[in-house]
Amino acid sequence: MRKNAAQRGLSGKGSDTGNPQLEEGICVLCGGRKTGVPAQKDFAIRFARWLRRTLGTGEAHSIACKSCLAACARKRDAFESEMRLGRIFAVLFFIVFLAGGVYFGGFGMWTFVPAIIGSIIILLLPYGKYFPKFQGSH
Ligand SMILES: [Zn+2]
Repeated sequence: MRKNAAQRGLSGKGSDTGNPQLEEGICVLCGGRKTGVPAQKDFAIRFARWLRRTLGTGEAHSIACKSCLAACARKRDAFESEMRLGRIFAVLFFIVFLAGGVYFGGFGMWTFVPAIIGSIIILLLPYGKYFPKFQGSH
């Protein structure tokens, strides 16, 4: 029994589920063609790949090379905290704008529509600094 548990513990440690598969591609930070950790395929990466396919510029994978991985993780963290802030600001803007509209003129189309549009713009602003997530960078 005890031996079994020890073996399980060892095999658990030895498994490489935490190690992402390396791919060849263009490093997003230093721009070199290297082997590194591929970017996680969220919708922005899918869109970029679709765009490259459509334009016929060839499909270079976005990767983070070994020496840039730590810096990439920091940039991703900064982007994620900006997205969180963006969500908070969007909700605040929406509430304040609606409350102001109701206070000054009652609730209507011309309170609701600008509030929605403003909130969406605030939500999208952090994407100007979009940075992909890399597996194993956390
Ligand atoms: Zn690099």
